[in-house]
Amino acid sequence: MNSVVGVPFTMRTAAACLGGALHPQCDEREIITSVSIDSRAIGQGGLFVPLVGRYADGHDYIQQALDAGALLALAAEDQAERIFGQIGRSYQQRILIVDDPLLALHRLARWYVDRRDRLVKIAVTGSNGKTTTKEILASILECEYPVFKTAGNYNSVIGVPVGVFGLTDEHRYAVFELAMSERGEMAALARIVFPDVAVLTNIGVAHIGNIGSQQGIAEEKKAIFSCFTGRQRAFLPEDEPYYDFLAEGVHGQVVPFGVHHTPGYRAVEDLGLDGLRLRWGDREVVFALPGMHNLSNLLAAVSVAVELGAAPESVLQGIARVQAPFGRGQILRGEVTIIQDCYNANPDSMLAALEFFRAVPATGRKIAVLGDMRELGETAGNEHRRILAEVAGCDRLFLVGEEFLRAAGGSHPDRDMGSSPADIVDELLAYLKPGDLVLLKGSRGVGLEVISERIQHAQ
Ligand code: ATP
Ligand code: MG
Repeated sequence: MNSVVGVPFTMRTAAACLGGALHPQCDEREIITSVSIDSRAIGQGGLFVPLVGRYADGHDYIQQALDAGALLALAAEDQAERIFGQIGRSYQQRILIVDDPLLALHRLARWYVDRRDRLVKIAVTGSNGKTTTKEILASILECEYPVFKTAGNYNSVIGVPVGVFGLTDEHRYAVFELAMSERGEMAALARIVFPDVAVLTNIGVAHIGNIGSQQGIAEEKKAIFSCFTGRQRAFLPEDEPYYDFLAEGVHGQVVPFGVHHTPGYRAVEDLGLDGLRLRWGDREVVFALPGMHNLSNLLAAVSVAVELGAAPESVLQGIARVQAPFGRGQILRGEVTIIQDCYNANPDSMLAALEFFRAVPATGRKIAVLGDMRELGETAGNEHRRILAEVAGCDRLFLVGEEFLRAAGGSHPDRDMGSSPADIVDELLAYLKPGDLVLLKGSRGVGLEVISERIQHAQ
């Protein structure tokens, strides 16, 4: 992960913010122009933040980062002796010792965001639909002002603080996607962003393996409101079963969104693969992302945009411009049409995709290729069996991943199941004929998109 700094700052500023002492020989006026946790991506003027992961310790790559032109590298206090012993003498002045590099990155990111004082900050969280909602909202607001948005899926305790350095003083709005997979992470992200507006799309069961229960997930996600001081606004889905729990005690205004509350909403028409036609006020607009589950994302974005004062023309134009982000309801048309929905998967989004697939009109056959849903912990077995019980209305089903293999218990022909996409793709290609519709849905790690490439290549 790497970010070019929108408003570069000096080494002295970084050190003052982080409470560390720069080496006496260091020229503190030198300017930091990028922030990176990856020594391979860093260049001249970079600040290298070494993180300790499950498989690697970034401290082992400090020399490499400095060789590549990094201006400054952070290092944890307990690693200082080792680092100074390893790196060349001329590099010693380029090390800034901090207590914990990840916490230091959070501090620097918070300071950086806080300096953009004209900025209206919007944070989006939820189990499903964060990226989609962020994209729609940014698309609307961009019709009026320069907007910063989280790049791709930089939504984690690492991605958010690295990503915020892309902000500049030109930006009037910032739309941040915030996600958590462990307890405490959402509160940490809220402290970086201090959102003026926070949107919670829904409470599902993604990451239940780490958190333990859906109630726990609701508690963690609610922490997006934890920095509210009274003047901020919390947007909640009107039909969310946890609504009352989420709204209780919020130190700010709670605004429901959905078909009953979103200003201007009149009706929606499901256009199948062509998306949704929204009647809004006395106008109509087609939204390209398919599936009724996207209506909620759409209405969340419209509610926030209207509340922030967006003109009706911008709302309509912004909606019309949205294109499916990679792997979220992408329709790849060809002799065989593919619904590429394999950016992620959890039971809620899997069921939403299956419901859409069952209902969508198709001229040819329907073939579902489902990949494992990851991070479900002890609930994985039950959830995969539940999905198999819900699959209906398709002509053939292919399963990819160990969880689905276990859940199916050999009840499908072997050639329709495999541990990886490579195990089933030849059988799938041999089966397909023009006019077929294929759904690809699975967790990111399963990598189902290679199947799209093979299908498109074969056409
Ligand atoms: P991630 O946790 O990976 O960042 P996300 O919350 O950003 O996910 P999106 O990337 O917007 O979610 O959508 C991922 C998938 O979730 C979509 O492809 C779709 O299948 C499903 N999805 C999107 N919105 C909803 C929703 N409101 N309810 C249920 N499923 C949804
Ligand atoms: Mg996302």
